[in-house]
Amino acid sequence: MKDFHCKDTGASCDFVARGNSNQEILDQVGKHAQTAHNMKVTPELSRKVEGLIHDESSDAHRQSSERR
Ligand SMILES: [Zn+2]
Repeated sequence: MKDFHCKDTGASCDFVARGNSNQEILDQVGKHAQTAHNMKVTPELSRKVEGLIHDESSDAHRQSSERR
């Protein structure tokens, strides 16, 4: 299981997307970006999000969960 923390982008937002593939997460993040942040999903944004997706068991995930 992979996840993406919206606050990793620098937003003060507790949204977390979870899925088994980057595409699954990108779909959720795309909807979230539009409805919650009024952001258009560009190829640049998708790349940024993909770079922030990480495995739930990784150190990066622990850091994201602890960061406030
Ligand atoms: Zn958000």
